[in-house]
Amino acid sequence: MTDRKTELAANLAKVEQRIAAACAAAGREREEVTLIVVTKTYPASDVRILSELGVRHVAENRDQDAAPKAVACADLPLKWHFVGQLQTNKVRSVVGYADVVQSVDRARLVTALSNEAVRAEREVGCLLQVALDAGESERGERGGVAPGGIEELADLVARAPGLRLDGLMTVAPLTGEYAGREQAAFERLMDLSTDLRRAHPAATMVSAGMSADLEQAVAAGATHVRVGTAVLGVRPRLG
Ligand SMILES: *Cc1c(COP(=O)(O)O)cnc(C)c1O
Repeated sequence: MTDRKTELAANLAKVEQRIAAACAAAGREREEVTLIVVTKTYPASDVRILSELGVRHVAENRDQDAAPKAVACADLPLKWHFVGQLQTNKVRSVVGYADVVQSVDRARLVTALSNEAVRAEREVGCLLQVALDAGESERGERGGVAPGGIEELADLVARAPGLRLDGLMTVAPLTGEYAGREQAAFERLMDLSTDLRRAHPAATMVSAGMSADLEQAVAAGATHVRVGTAVLGVRPRLG
């Protein structure tokens, strides 16, 4: 094995142990939680190694970096998740490789995604990104729809040709009532997911938890954790 492969294998094993321990502590089956490795800022060669090591889900947050990586890795059995704030002028590109867009947070984006998905003859999974630091009607600082806006946006996605409503995503807020209370934030997301599934029973994905707080996310009931640093190492500042 190359040094990098050895390093990534060791990091993955540690993350795997953390997820398994968190599942055991929460009385959940390990299979209930899917690991998504966030490969932003890291090269396609790392994505290839991760695939060889059994990773099946990767995530990116900037189209400029993600698009060429996805092309370079098109032969690999990977699902690509887009987790960054998404401008409508990047939607055509993102729809070309993303299986799931986790950062859907406004009606205009839904329309753009739908148009491009239909045009590309693809079905794109959508998670609504929820801003738990937003007031009832504003949008969050780092994107995201306020809890009060979920229902309307969910109905829009569910009706949009080419899109599939898969569930909810959040990033633990740094400010507001949930600052420093990751598990409470993730439990709130679970409650919002329960509400959502009354009208949209197939929207079962709950994406929460990163390198620093994956245990809290698993404890709260997350189905997907998004882990970057703990697998790939500390990123250079950009990204
Ligand atoms: C970068 C990023 C992650 C991963 O964060 P780490 O702390 O490196 O694990 C997860 N989710 C989103 C939306 C991100 O942008």
